[in-house]
Amino acid sequence: MDLNMPSSEVQLKKECHLYLIKGGKWAALMSTFILFAMLVNIVLQTSKVLLASNIILYMLPVFITMILAALVMRVYAIDEISNKALLAYLFSLELSWLFLIWMIFDSSEAIFSGNAALAGVESIVDVLVLTFAIALFVDRKIMLMAVLPLMLLSFFLRVTEIPDNYFFPLTKFLCFFAIIVSGQRVLYTWFKKAVVRDVEKQHLLKHFRRMALIDGLTNISNRRHFDEILSQEIRASERNNHPLCVIMIDVDFFKRLNDSLGHQVGDECLITLAKLLSSVANRPRDLAARYGGEEFVLLLPDTDRNGAYLIADKLKSILAKVKILHPDSDVSEYITVSQGVCQWQEGMKPDELISEADRLLYQAKLTGRDRFFGAKG
Ligand code: GH3
Ligand code: MG
Ligand code: MG
Repeated sequence: MDLNMPSSEVQLKKECHLYLIKGGKWAALMSTFILFAMLVNIVLQTSKVLLASNIILYMLPVFITMILAALVMRVYAIDEISNKALLAYLFSLELSWLFLIWMIFDSSEAIFSGNAALAGVESIVDVLVLTFAIALFVDRKIMLMAVLPLMLLSFFLRVTEIPDNYFFPLTKFLCFFAIIVSGQRVLYTWFKKAVVRDVEKQHLLKHFRRMALIDGLTNISNRRHFDEILSQEIRASERNNHPLCVIMIDVDFFKRLNDSLGHQVGDECLITLAKLLSSVANRPRDLAARYGGEEFVLLLPDTDRNGAYLIADKLKSILAKVKILHPDSDVSEYITVSQGVCQWQEGMKPDELISEADRLLYQAKLTGRDRFFGAKG
């Protein structure tokens, strides 16, 4: 079972990247809205100071940036977009906006009274600053790189236009800066907490799932997991007509091992046996499970009876090689197992297959233990 999970740091990095891309998308949406509002404003203006054709020319870089970004988003999935591509887009959007604002101010200032041009430009900058601050808050550096040039431009235009009043624009600049920086910190702290909690929740869920499906002593699948997978594999065999086998395995005279060497040795024997079973049934879809007590079961998809006999035989010879001492067994001085090998037949329900394997295991016990017994299911 795959229990690898990303750490909080890795997940936070990933979530920040995704948020930045979504923020960049949102900034594009807001940019479109502002451009639209500007165009309406120009169409409605009585003095026709700014020719619509000029304005559209100045707007072109913002448009082109957004069209390119939209094309990239169409071709690539959101998590395929690299950090570099994202930075290039934000940089281009920022430069395009600075250019547009400068050009609008420059062209309208010649005809409007300076204050009217300034008011328009300041409103645009304020909306853009808020947009970028919210869209990019997960990365303070990137956010400041987007927000500061706009704020500085607005400040610069204001003091060049009204040179005798530095105090108000400076206060506004500093207040905006303080609000944005502290707001970013608060939002980012909450964002980080949410991601860390989410990762912890995922870890807990994995852990609970593991506890529900893995046997605590032997660390292989438990009966619940086996039952789940067995039903799935039977459905697959019904569809594909592929063979499927199970082998029920029971340790011979295990009670006597406990009685003579103690429960701890008995436990270690079960752990070793579980490892051996996993190594014997080692195809990707094979499953070794502890069925209960000292009983184990192997699930062997795409394996017919002859293939299952080979596995049962392999287990018998590996046990003979490993030589786990059993001082009180009637069949050997080492641990042995009895096995019931059963192939699934069309129409057989999971519990019928298990009962049949159990019956065959019992036959193996009755006929002397340390052997496997098989028959058509
Ligand atoms: P047989 O050859 O007929 O299978 O005899 P057996 O002694 O193996 O079978 P029996 O069912 O009489 O005993 C099974 C024993 O397995 C009894 C029980 O105490 C022991 N057992 C079950 N679970 C565990 C476990 O987790 N750890 C240990 N150490 N022993 C266990
Ligand atoms: Mg038993
Ligand atoms: Mg037993």
